[in-house]
Amino acid sequence: MSPYINLKIVAFAGGVGGAKLAQGLAQTLPPENLTIVVNTGDDFEHLGLYICPDLDTVCYTLAGLANPETGWGRVGETWNTISNVEKLGGPAWFRLGDQDIATHLERTRRLKDGKPLSQITKEFCEAWDIKPSVLPMTDSPVRTMVDSDEGELAFQEYFVHRRCEPRVKGFRFDGVEVAEPAPGVREALASADAIVFCPSNPWVSIDPILKVVREIKKTVVAVSPIIGGKTVKGPAAKMYSELGIEPSALAVARHYRTILTGFVLDNADVNFEKQIKDLDVKTLVTDTLMNQPTDRARLANDVLHFIGSL
Ligand code: GDP
Ligand code: CA
Repeated sequence: MSPYINLKIVAFAGGVGGAKLAQGLAQTLPPENLTIVVNTGDDFEHLGLYICPDLDTVCYTLAGLANPETGWGRVGETWNTISNVEKLGGPAWFRLGDQDIATHLERTRRLKDGKPLSQITKEFCEAWDIKPSVLPMTDSPVRTMVDSDEGELAFQEYFVHRRCEPRVKGFRFDGVEVAEPAPGVREALASADAIVFCPSNPWVSIDPILKVVREIKKTVVAVSPIIGGKTVKGPAAKMYSELGIEPSALAVARHYRTILTGFVLDNADVNFEKQIKDLDVKTLVTDTLMNQPTDRARLANDVLHFIGSL
């Protein structure tokens, strides 16, 4: 047995990119050694339902219920409810599948009964047989707002309704100043050997979590979501460009530099290794694309070995 499986890890994750590495870590570590803290800045209320896109993506992925094509939503999904909403002239721009709607219905009901989101997430994880601890970053409402050339937009308005077309000028996390980390987050951070930033969007997935936890005194290792100057999926590279920063693994390392111990970059970006080392950050260059489920466990293994070597 490798010694690294005794490492206690807290992973910070957004949705699709975060869920992939979280699943790899879940396949590699004993469940008691893994806590996944998930961004809730994307959460919103829609059709009277409380929707947590990143939490659901992480949970569906860990439970083996995620749609492997999209990385979000449910496998074997049907769309009867949303089609009928559309026929009635209701808002159908946010695609909600029938199985997925059950999650939001039940979450909304329990929230209305006064249960905190962290408790509901725990109950859902039990129902889905998810063993590692999955925690929302906070039980308080925090809403990512995108400042754009078309004014300030709520995150899902920008991301889904407007397909990330408006040019980004900055971000604001409404409610973050008063938000406390969800129960269990501080404890997990205090007992962790290292914090792993999954390859999630630095601006809108990891930054909100960092703003909620406020300070980190542990070894931090981040995995680059940008490979060869591009995102695998989503607007992270576009956001860097629009904010006047050349999108690259180096830009991501710089983004986190004040708290970073180690950085994992793709083989395609080996030319940035020296500049990242010059930031006083240790590096691991490896294959970071997680197309297949086996890639997830392999990358998780690489990351854990790297942490063990720091
Ligand atoms: P979202 O909340 O669903 O947008 O997902 P995240 O913020 O967790 O992840 C988005 C980021 O994941 C994007 O910047 C992608 O480039 C990155 N990503 C997705 N798949 C992979 C992958 O296989 N490897 C790496 N390194 N990054 C990935
Ligand atoms: Ca997200």
